[in-house]
Amino acid sequence: MFREIKRQIALFSTSTLVVFLVVFVSAIVFFMNWSLRYSGEIYLFDTANSLISRNTFSESIGDDRFNIVRTDYDQTGYDYIKWNSNDMIVENKVSQEGLIVKGYKNLQNHRNYKGYENFELNGISYRMYQTDYTKEGNTYTLQVFQNTSAEKSLMAKTVSFLIVIGAAGAIVLFPISYLIAGKNLQPIKTSYEAQKKFVADASHELRTPLAVIQSNLDVLEFKEDETIKENAQWLNNIGNEAQTMGKLIGNLLLIAQADNQQIVLEKTEFDLSELCRELVALMHSIALENGVVIQTTLPDEVIYCGDREQIKQALRILIDNAIKYSNGQGTVTITLCETKSSISVSVQDEGIGMSEEARQKIFDRFYRVDDARHREKGGFGLGLNIADAIVKMHKGKIHVTSELNVGSTFTMTLPK
Ligand code: ADP
Repeated sequence: MFREIKRQIALFSTSTLVVFLVVFVSAIVFFMNWSLRYSGEIYLFDTANSLISRNTFSESIGDDRFNIVRTDYDQTGYDYIKWNSNDMIVENKVSQEGLIVKGYKNLQNHRNYKGYENFELNGISYRMYQTDYTKEGNTYTLQVFQNTSAEKSLMAKTVSFLIVIGAAGAIVLFPISYLIAGKNLQPIKTSYEAQKKFVADASHELRTPLAVIQSNLDVLEFKEDETIKENAQWLNNIGNEAQTMGKLIGNLLLIAQADNQQIVLEKTEFDLSELCRELVALMHSIALENGVVIQTTLPDEVIYCGDREQIKQALRILIDNAIKYSNGQGTVTITLCETKSSISVSVQDEGIGMSEEARQKIFDRFYRVDDARHREKGGFGLGLNIADAIVKMHKGKIHVTSELNVGSTFTMTLPK
């Protein structure tokens, strides 16, 4: 799927470049054409004016100075023919005889005409200016020719050069934009893969309690005649699994909301110290059940502005984990510290700890260090991810230090 998107993006940017080049080349060609024609016409006009104003030679026909068709003529200059009112040449300077024929035809076709014309003659391009004028009572027609072959060739070379550059650019651009598209799509790809994995993991987690519920219902089907009391065990199992599913679905919902930035923080000022005491009281019995002692170092009145319920949930996850992974012994120490710019709460346990490799992954969704054993402890591998998301929403971070079989310390730092 991503390969196709990358190909399409590359194709789109390449075709955009090609369209841009076509417009650019056309604009350049148009401008060059216009500017060459304009300067050429001015040149012919000025030349014609200077030819008209200069003193002409004698006009007598037969004087070989005036009827010589010059073939050794310098190609870069101009050619001209002056006709009298009897269509006789009175003066000329032409590089090829064909110009006389062309000039004569033009004279016949366009009487009293003043203007420019472009034409080809024996492979040479010309621009011609024709004008009538009167001098000393006589009417003449003057035709001035400019060889524009060099102009044409310059234009053709420029166009081919731009086309070659454009084509080479398009050929080079396609793989480059393919690579760039790949790089730009990488974060989307990563998040798409993560989303896919999340859905797969969530379905997998939901399948286990569903299977337990189904098997307990299957058992109950054969005990139609027995009382509810007699089947309390199966019903309890169903109830527990339904509770597990409810908890998981709640967590999934929270993660989805955090992902979509749909969680609106209800910020209030509250005493974090008092919140910690409240949590210790709440978890006292669970700690006792697990053979763990909770110790606290809490200064009086540590006021923080944030979403109390969310912070409570994050702290509860950390304390809950500390108790769960204490291996039925030891002390869990909760320490609250306040500095000028931040407040930090650390939850330290003397439990199973974790390896460096595991420490890097514990915030990943559905990650459990010891998958089977930690699932038994009722964990989905979502708690730390949720705690992290909550702390991040408060612009804070969670730092972890841990040593295998010695214990772990989770420190939540919240900026003031
Ligand atoms: P769970 O609900 O499974 O506890 P968490 O996201 O809270 O999910 O934790 C992820 C994993 O990190 C746990 O399964 C456990 O392996 C490890 N872990 C979390 N807290 C601790 C701790 N205090 N000591 C040791 N391991 C921990």
